[in-house]
Amino acid sequence: MTTLAAGTATTDSAARPQPGLARHLIDGAWTGTPITERRNPARPHEIVALSPAGTAEDADAAVAAAVRAQPAWAALPAPARGAILLKAASLLEDRATAVAADLVREEGKTLAEATGEVKRAADVLRFFGSLGWAPSGDVLPSGLPGTTITTRREPLGVFALITPWNFPIAIPAWKAAPALVAGNAVVLKPAELTPLSATHLARALQDAGLPTGVFNVVHGSGRVVGEAFARDERVAGLSFTGSTAVGLHLKGVLDARRARVQLEMGGKNAVLVLGDADPESAAAVVAAGAFGLTGQACTATSRVYVTPGVREAFTAALVRIAGEYAPGDGLAGARMGAVVSEAQFAQDAAAVRLAVERGAELLAGAHDADPTGGLFFPPAVLAGMAEDDPIVTEEVFGPVVAVLEVPDYEAGLAAVNSSRYGLTAGICTDSLALATDFAARAQAGVVKVNRPTSGLDLNAPFGGVKDSSTNTFREQGRSAVEFYTWGKTVYLGV
Ligand code: NAD
Repeated sequence: MTTLAAGTATTDSAARPQPGLARHLIDGAWTGTPITERRNPARPHEIVALSPAGTAEDADAAVAAAVRAQPAWAALPAPARGAILLKAASLLEDRATAVAADLVREEGKTLAEATGEVKRAADVLRFFGSLGWAPSGDVLPSGLPGTTITTRREPLGVFALITPWNFPIAIPAWKAAPALVAGNAVVLKPAELTPLSATHLARALQDAGLPTGVFNVVHGSGRVVGEAFARDERVAGLSFTGSTAVGLHLKGVLDARRARVQLEMGGKNAVLVLGDADPESAAAVVAAGAFGLTGQACTATSRVYVTPGVREAFTAALVRIAGEYAPGDGLAGARMGAVVSEAQFAQDAAAVRLAVERGAELLAGAHDADPTGGLFFPPAVLAGMAEDDPIVTEEVFGPVVAVLEVPDYEAGLAAVNSSRYGLTAGICTDSLALATDFAARAQAGVVKVNRPTSGLDLNAPFGGVKDSSTNTFREQGRSAVEFYTWGKTVYLGV
C-alpha cells in the first residue's frame, strides 16, 4: 500500500515536499505505477503528485470487483452501511490539515477554500451515513381488505462516477455517499489533474472498514477509463460532473444501452442587479460569486445585468473589490488562488483578449498576465459588450465577469434567461415582489436572492436545467439517493 506525502508550505526547493503518490484502488489493493506528473499551479517547479495512467483492463478489473462485492454490501443492514460512512467522515476530519494542503497544491485554490471543501466532504459522508437510520419508504392504505402497501427503494448495482478537478474531494464524496448508503458499489474515475484528493477519500473509506471492492478508483484519461466505464454493460448507471461537451457525449452512450445517467455540466450564471439594491452589497455578492474559487465553479457568476440607476455605483464598487482579490499561492495566504492549469489560464486570457478586441472595456484585470512564475490570473471585469458577445454567452471557467446594462426588470429577466445554460441565477433587490417573481420565472435549477450564485448547503437539492444538467435527478440532499435506487411497490396480505 502506498503512503501519501502530505505537503508542507515552502518555497525552498531543498525542502520541497515529496510528490504524493496516487494509486488505483481495485478490489481493495492499491495498484498501478504512478507515472503521470502533476505540478503545483502556484509553483510550477514543484511536482505535487504522481498517478498511474489507467487502462481499459484496469477499468474492467474495477467493475468486476464492484460487481462481486455489491450483493453482500447491499445485504448489510442500512445502519451498518451508514456507520462506515460516519467513521470515514471522522477520519477525513482527523486528516483535514494534510488533505487540504494536498488539495491546494494540486488544484490551486486557497487554503480556506480547500479546508472548507474537505469539511464539506466529511459533512456529506456524515449526512448520508445518518440516512442509514432514516425511513426509506411509505406505508399506504390499500382498498383491499387485510392488505398493506409499502414502497421500497432498491440499489441498482454498480455505479460509475466521473468527476472534475474543481471540487476534487467534495464532488466524489457527494456522488459516492448516496450511492453507497443505498447499497450500491462504486467505480470512480477522478479528474487527471487532481489524483490526490480522490485518493484521500478512498483511503478514508477503506480505513473506515468499507468491504473490499465496494469502492474502487481508477486514475487516468477520460477517453480511456471514463469511456470504458460508460460502455460497460455491468455498470447500471453513471453520474458525471464536467463539461457539457463530454457530458452530452456520455449521455448518448448511456442512453443507447438504457442505463441511468445523471449529468451536471457547464454554466453561464447571471445576477440581475436592480435599482433598489445597495450597490456595495450587490458588488460584494457578485464578486464572491465571480472571483471566489478563482471563478472555477460551475455556479460562478459570469454575467451581470444592471439597471441604469445603480449601474455606475455598482460597477465602481465591483472594480474596487476585484482589486482586493489578488491572485497568489493558496498556501501562502492569497485571497484568490491559482488557475488550475496552463490550458485553463490560456483559455481565460484568450476570452478576455477576444472581448477587448471586439470592443469591450476592460475595467479590471488583464489578458496578458505572465503565467511563468505561477498561474495567477487577475480577476477581470468587462463592460460595454453586445449581448451576444462570446464573453456573455460562452462559459470561461475563470475569474471573469461581464457587466451589461438593461433598461428594467423585465429586460433583465429576459437577458438572464437568454443563455443555453440554466444552473444558478441571482437577483439583488430589496423588493420582495420582484424577488418572488424572479424565483418563479428564472430558468435555473438554483435561484439566489441577495446571495452569491455559488455555494449551496449540503442538504439542498442541486442541479440545473437546459444544457447545464440532465434535469432529472438532483444531487445532494435526501433526494440524491433517488438516482442510485429504483422504486418498488409491495402489497402485503396477511
Ligand atoms: P471535463 O468534461 O473535461 O472532465 C470531467 C471528467 O470527465 C474528467 O474526469 C475527465 O477525465 C472525464 N472525461 C473527459 N473526456 C471523457 C470521455 N470521453 N469519456 C468519459 N470521461 C471523460 O471537465 P473539467 O475540465 O474537468 O471540469 C470543468 C467543467 O466542469 C466546466 O465546464 C464546469 O462547468 C463543469 N462543472 C460542472 C459542475 C456542475 O455541477 N454542473 C460542477 C463542477 C464543474
